[in-house]
Amino acid sequence: MPLLVVRDLKKHFPIKKGLIQRTVGHVRAVDGVSLSVDKGETFGLVGESGCGKSTTGRSILRLIEPTEGEILFEGRDIRKMGTAEMRRMRRKMQIVFQDPYASLNPRYTVRQVLEEPMLIHNLYSSAAERKKRVSQLMETVGLSPSRMERYPHEFSGGQRQRIGIARALAVDPKLIIADEPVSALDVSVQSQVLNLLDDLQKELGLAYVFIAHDLSVVKHISDRIGVMYLGRMVELSPADDLYSDPLHPYSQALLSAVPVPDPEAKRERIILQGDLPSPSKPPTGCPFHPRCKDAKDICKTAVPTWEEIRPNHFVACHLYA
Ligand code: SF4
Repeated sequence: MPLLVVRDLKKHFPIKKGLIQRTVGHVRAVDGVSLSVDKGETFGLVGESGCGKSTTGRSILRLIEPTEGEILFEGRDIRKMGTAEMRRMRRKMQIVFQDPYASLNPRYTVRQVLEEPMLIHNLYSSAAERKKRVSQLMETVGLSPSRMERYPHEFSGGQRQRIGIARALAVDPKLIIADEPVSALDVSVQSQVLNLLDDLQKELGLAYVFIAHDLSVVKHISDRIGVMYLGRMVELSPADDLYSDPLHPYSQALLSAVPVPDPEAKRERIILQGDLPSPSKPPTGCPFHPRCKDAKDICKTAVPTWEEIRPNHFVACHLYA
């Protein structure tokens, strides 16, 4: 049984106007996303900014309430859980944010930051036990416990993200939603944080939903990758298969921007035309058609169906119908 199953997840935000705040439309930020994640697996979720990937991550944790859909964690639908049960469940599902500085309370020392989730979940009864756990956590993420009484601003960007990861680990989760965890970091620091996440996964058997706007970031860490466009999944595949043979024209464009080490194997860069359309007014038919180099007449009117083209490799595109 997969650890996490998401079925037809939707998050529509109402657009309100006028004095009485009448609802005049909806932003379809997430519009029918399905995925599953096994224990110890990394699922990479990729797409341009504004495609709904972060909203998907937050909806999975119910940090924002989904509009529709099922979210099964260990076989149980968390959308049907009450407050107390949901709080217990949150221990098992944590999030690491893009901007570690904004997500850490600047008035808290690192010890306080790491103790807070333990207190919320009543995990250790004595201050001495909590402090011991803080030391352990700091060592686990490669920080010296001697710095636990320092404040977040005294750490570098990469170190702050290590604190954010330690905070997620403080409650022994099974799944971490990593929402662009390295996007705000220097390239040289990115690989260190990615390696840390990889090591932690091997050591602790964690599952990740790893959200990124850049396919090169998720390349080495992901087992499977889902590509999102305008609130929908357009391709889902084992990582190797997606990199060697992307099927959807949008995935092909994203992949063409990823640098390859061998200059002989250089891919032709596909420049996407135009901007991402507004999710409040998605194009008819295939939502990618105004920007697609392969669009046919049918693409303007008919929504492509989700098909398994090769084992475990799914795509929504009329080219494969
Ligand atoms: Fe392009 Fe048509 Fe495929 Fe959409 S369905 S990606 S417009 S070819």
